Amino acid sequence: MSVFAVVGAQWGDEGKGRVVDYLAADASLVIRYGGGNNAGHTVVNPHGHFKLHLVPSGIFHRATRNLLGNGVVIHPPALLDELDHLAAAGFNCSNLFIADRAHLVMPWHLLLDQLEERERGAARLGTTSRGIGPAYVDKVARRGFRMIDLLEPDAFRERLGVAVGRVRRLVDSYYQAGGPDDELAGPIREATDSHRIAEEYLAAAARLAPHVVDGQALVDEALERGETILLEGQLGTMRDLDWGVYPYVTSSSPIPGGASLGAGLPAVRIDKVIGVAKAYTTAVGAGPLPTELDDGHGTSLRERGAEYGTSTGRPRRCGWYDAVAVRFSVRLAGYSSIALTKLDVLDAFESIQVCVAYRDPATEARWETVPASASVYGRLEPVYEELAGWQTDTASARSWTDLPAPARAYVERIESLAGVPISHVSVGPAREQMIVRS
Ligand code: GDP
Repeated sequence: MSVFAVVGAQWGDEGKGRVVDYLAADASLVIRYGGGNNAGHTVVNPHGHFKLHLVPSGIFHRATRNLLGNGVVIHPPALLDELDHLAAAGFNCSNLFIADRAHLVMPWHLLLDQLEERERGAARLGTTSRGIGPAYVDKVARRGFRMIDLLEPDAFRERLGVAVGRVRRLVDSYYQAGGPDDELAGPIREATDSHRIAEEYLAAAARLAPHVVDGQALVDEALERGETILLEGQLGTMRDLDWGVYPYVTSSSPIPGGASLGAGLPAVRIDKVIGVAKAYTTAVGAGPLPTELDDGHGTSLRERGAEYGTSTGRPRRCGWYDAVAVRFSVRLAGYSSIALTKLDVLDAFESIQVCVAYRDPATEARWETVPASASVYGRLEPVYEELAGWQTDTASARSWTDLPAPARAYVERIESLAGVPISHVSVGPAREQMIVRS
């Protein structure tokens, strides 16, 4: 029996979903511990090609139970949409459970996300406008709605009226939004119509109720029985609320501390933490990204790696592997090992750069870690080490020795820079394209 956390070691989109789908074959419970439907996982397996936004990536293993933990924020209409898509593909999701303490994304959260970005103007964060940040704000402000509230309709309706009244006052007085020429006039009307919201959310509740459980009890029983549990992260360390490049962060904690909190199990029960890192770097949204490439190499990484957001379709910013950022993540997350994904995307390059440190052009100082200040981070330049490319197709490699020598040397260099073993290397999105190193 073991509890494994699978955590993003970069800016997100590292391929955590495919790693969880792979590892879930041996797990009886997979728990998604944070975030909402703002970032998605793409999973390619013998059943097809799936885009998951909220549902944990163990869902395709019918004997594996999947829990949306209390740390997740759930937009019920989005979850129902996802369940409908999975049902159409033959997965009825009777193996999905939802923690009763999980918070809800309400319609006004999506609206406030848009109003806040509009207010930020040029300083916008590039959020996905899915309402995730405002939902976590309400959670912390102790006025959030939770899954359990949907099962108490009278109290839900009553609180809804109060909440909508507050949002109306915010929209009218503070944002002074919703005039006849405002493109958000329609969304404002919808997001403050408590009757409509009650209808929609309580209808959703009727469908979701069979999945709602006391999440902690489910987890506790699994621990008691000695089952193998996977904790599935969303986004990555560089977007962590506390440790990412503030304010270009998400509103939850992707690092393993967040896993304990958001899944509902004691931190000391986590036996192993697997960091997932891409063989290069990508990010969606605003904020510093020292190794970003605006040249043909960046385009080549984007096209070869199909680097377009799972949830939004937005092109991802691409650059060389940043060993400083991953080392920062290793220190925070304490990885037992790293799963390195998308090595095949580098197959075409004659030579490959790895960022081993940063240099501050203003002071000539060398940085070996990530500074607290986004403006300092924004001016740091990467110090690169050049490694030989392999210009050989690796997608059909199935074992470590199938990889060309320069590809192995690249992985080994990354391993020594990270200071932890690289246990898995993936050379394609399919399950069989995962190389497990002994
Ligand atoms: P996640 O949110 O961390 O699960 O990552 P995403 O699903 O957003 O992005 C990872 C993308 O890379 C998905 O489209 C995967 O199918 C794809 N992918 C994962 N591993 C590999 C790999 O080794 N090679 C290639 N070419 N694609 C991969």
